[in-house]
Amino acid sequence: MGIITIKCVKCGRKVFKYQKMGKGRLWRCWKGRIIEDQSVREGDVVKCTCGNVIGIDKGGYIRMRQSSFTISS
Ligand SMILES: [Zn+2]
Repeated sequence: MGIITIKCVKCGRKVFKYQKMGKGRLWRCWKGRIIEDQSVREGDVVKCTCGNVIGIDKGGYIRMRQSSFTISS
């Protein structure tokens, strides 16, 4: 799939630019493949700057909250 832009579903801001491998849903964002990171953190909670929760930081990756983002290439 290549480089994708992950946007907040609530405000439309870009949260990540990410190198996606393979097809299918984006369940995990591996940190080594994040090219641009405009998220904000509150402990292990990953949010858009508007406050929308995008996912949970699990160490090596972010577990993405499916209802929180859209993807464009
Ligand atoms: Zn937002």
